[in-house]
Amino acid sequence: METASFDVAVIGSGPSGATFVRELARSAPSRKILLIGRFSKEKMCGGLLAPDAQKALARFNLTLPKNVLSDPQIFAVETVDLSLKTTRLYQRHYLNMKRKAFDDWLVSMIPESVTLIDADCTAIVREEGGFRIQTNAGTFFSAYLIGADGANSIVRSTFFPKLSKQYVSIQQWFDPIGRSFPAYACIFDPSTSDSCSWIIQKEDGLIFGGAFPKRDCRKRYETQKRNLETKLHCSLGTPRRTEACLLSSPRKPTDFRLAKGSVFLIGEAAGLISSSSFEGISSAMLSGKHLADAFSCGKNDRIIRRKYRISVAPLILKLYLKIGKRFVLCSPLLRKLILLTGLKSIRRYPGPGSSGI
Ligand SMILES: Cc1cc2nc3c(=O)[nH]c(=O)nc-3n(C[C@H](O)[C@H](O)[C@H](O)COP(=O)(O)OP(=O)(O)OC[C@H]3O[C@@H](n4cnc5c(N)ncnc54)[C@H](O)[C@@H]3O)c2cc1C
Repeated sequence: METASFDVAVIGSGPSGATFVRELARSAPSRKILLIGRFSKEKMCGGLLAPDAQKALARFNLTLPKNVLSDPQIFAVETVDLSLKTTRLYQRHYLNMKRKAFDDWLVSMIPESVTLIDADCTAIVREEGGFRIQTNAGTFFSAYLIGADGANSIVRSTFFPKLSKQYVSIQQWFDPIGRSFPAYACIFDPSTSDSCSWIIQKEDGLIFGGAFPKRDCRKRYETQKRNLETKLHCSLGTPRRTEACLLSSPRKPTDFRLAKGSVFLIGEAAGLISSSSFEGISSAMLSGKHLADAFSCGKNDRIIRRKYRISVAPLILKLYLKIGKRFVLCSPLLRKLILLTGLKSIRRYPGPGSSGI
C-alpha cells in the first residue's frame, strides 16, 4: 500500500497542535497538513483558563462559547500551607472550564483542508527528505515534523534531550461536596511534595490533584489527601475517577527546546509551561501561532527555525522568570513569610460563603 505523503505532520491535537494547524492552514492553504491526535481522549487538567490564555484568545479574536464554561466561576484562590496551618485568600481572574469541551472547540476551528487522523503515533524514523511516522492507523510520510504531543512527547524523546524535571500529576474526581470546601484552593504540603496541589470545584464534581516526585507518587498523594482531610475536618469521600500523567516543570534554559533540522516542538513538548502554576494553555496556543507564522514566511528550514526562535524568545523569558517565582512559592521559609504577612491577601467576612479551611 502506498504511504500518504504530507508537507507538514503534527503529532498532538491539544491547544498547541490545534492552533498551529488552524493558523498554518489559513495562511498557507496550499500546504498538505496532517494532524495525528487522540481526539476522543480527555486531557487531564485543572481546567482553569488563566488571564494569559484569555489574552491569547483575545489576540486571535476568539470568544469562548458558553458550553465550554463550568460552574462555579472563580474569583479567588485559598492558599493553604498544611505545615504552617495558615490560610490566605488572594484575588484571581480565572475562567473555570471543561477541558474536553475547550479542546474540542479548538479542533472544530481547523479548516477542512487539514487531514485529521485519530490515532496513536508509535514510532518516527528519519529518512531521506523527511520522516516516516508510524501509527496504529497506518504509516505516513512528511517533510516536516511538529511535536505538539505534550509532556510525554514521542517527538521530544526521539529527537531532543528530556526535560530535567517532570512530576507525576495525580488527580481524583469526587462528588460535589458543598461549602465546606473552597471553590479553588492551592495547597502546599512540604512533607509530601515540593510542589503545589489544587482543589477545584466543577459543576459535576470536585477535583483534588497535585504534582508529586515520581518516587512513591501514589503514596505521597494519599498521605497529602489524609493531611488535607484532617485540616478540613471533612472527608472528600470515595473518588469517582483517578487519573495520572506526567507534568513538566522547566528549571533551566536548556529545558526549552524548539527546533532541530526540520523537527519543531511547540507547547508543553517544548517545555513551554509555567513551573510555578503549571499554566500551559497560553504558551501552547502562542507557540503554535509563532511557528505557523514562521512557516508562512520562512523559505527554508534555517529561516523557519530562526524566525520561530526569535518570536518565542519573549515567552521563554517570561517562563524563565516563573522559575524564580516557583523558587519563592515553593520555599517553605519564603512562603511562610508571605503567608504570615498576609501581603496582597483579601480579608474574608464570616458568613455562609466561607469555606471550612
Ligand atoms: C493535572 C494538570 C492540570 C493542569 N491544569 C491546567 C490549567 O488549569 N490551566 C492551564 O493553563 N494549564 C494546565 N495544565 C497544563 C496544560 O494542560 C498543558 O500545558 C497544555 O495542555 C499543553 O498543551 P499542548 O497542546 O502542548 O499539549 P497537550 O494539551 O498535552 O496535548 C497533547 C496532545 O497530544 C496527544 N498525544 C500525546 N502523545 C501522542 C501520540 N504518541 N500520538 C498521538 N497523540 C498524542 C495527547 O493525547 C494530547 O491530546 C495542567 C496540566 C496537568 C497535567
